[in-house]
Amino acid sequence: MIVDYHMHLRGPAGPDGAEPLVHTLDAVERYVEAAAARGVDEIAFTEHVYYFRQTRDVWHIPYHLERCVHDLDRYVDVVVEARRRGFPVRLGLEVDWVGERRERLAELLAPYPWDLLLGSVHEVGELPIDLEPGVWGELPVEAVWREYFAALCELAGSGHVDVIAHPDLAKISGRRPGAAVVAELHERVAAAIAAAGVAVEISTAGLRKPVGEVYPDEPLLRGLRERGVAITIASDAHGSELVGESFDRALALARRVGYETVSVFHGRRRRQEPLG
Ligand SMILES: [Zn+2]
Ligand SMILES: [Zn+2]
Repeated sequence: MIVDYHMHLRGPAGPDGAEPLVHTLDAVERYVEAAAARGVDEIAFTEHVYYFRQTRDVWHIPYHLERCVHDLDRYVDVVVEARRRGFPVRLGLEVDWVGERRERLAELLAPYPWDLLLGSVHEVGELPIDLEPGVWGELPVEAVWREYFAALCELAGSGHVDVIAHPDLAKISGRRPGAAVVAELHERVAAAIAAAGVAVEISTAGLRKPVGEVYPDEPLLRGLRERGVAITIASDAHGSELVGESFDRALALARRVGYETVSVFHGRRRRQEPLG
């Protein structure tokens, strides 16, 4: 079994490079075809939670408020209808860590029939780590890493998500603290994720970023494997052409570290299937 459990349902990029959110069955079919062409058996759509006006309550920075205009019911209905028709698709969402607003966000998401919820940390304080200059212009590298992983530990333990997305996103720009600090943070987050009983994704998105590497680092994945943490595979595609991209790299990493199974989620319940 090969899954791609992280992607954003978008239309073709416009002349300005923007990729519009397109929540239609036609768009779903494009992704399903792309997945089949790359040998991916099942995909999950995991749109960013801040794109939906139903979640407006929890946002207060312009980046989120400007995007919070789409209809969550429409998105859910399209994916559920595709699932009903027998397409190998799952309904998910990429849920940002929102600190003390997490209970409110969980309450807003509770009524929907999710197959899986990804948990992500994209900001430290209120500044992005995945945009430049973002938090990198404000804080030393080690402080960014420490705060990022502290948030990730809290997110894992929140009970609100099933899979940790791009687990070491802090390396996105290639900036890293010293090896001892990296090892300490890997150790701490692996323990927190294992204690929480959530899975992590192996994401090929990092190959398209300045760091040019899969998330997570091999030593971190080894620590997770040793503690019995399960995995999914993820492209984080923002367009159908990226579904299943570079999965040979993700699968090779998983096997090198000793993984033989992959997690499959239906109705937020996990089962293990042979990997590959
Ligand atoms: Zn993300
Ligand atoms: Zn994503």
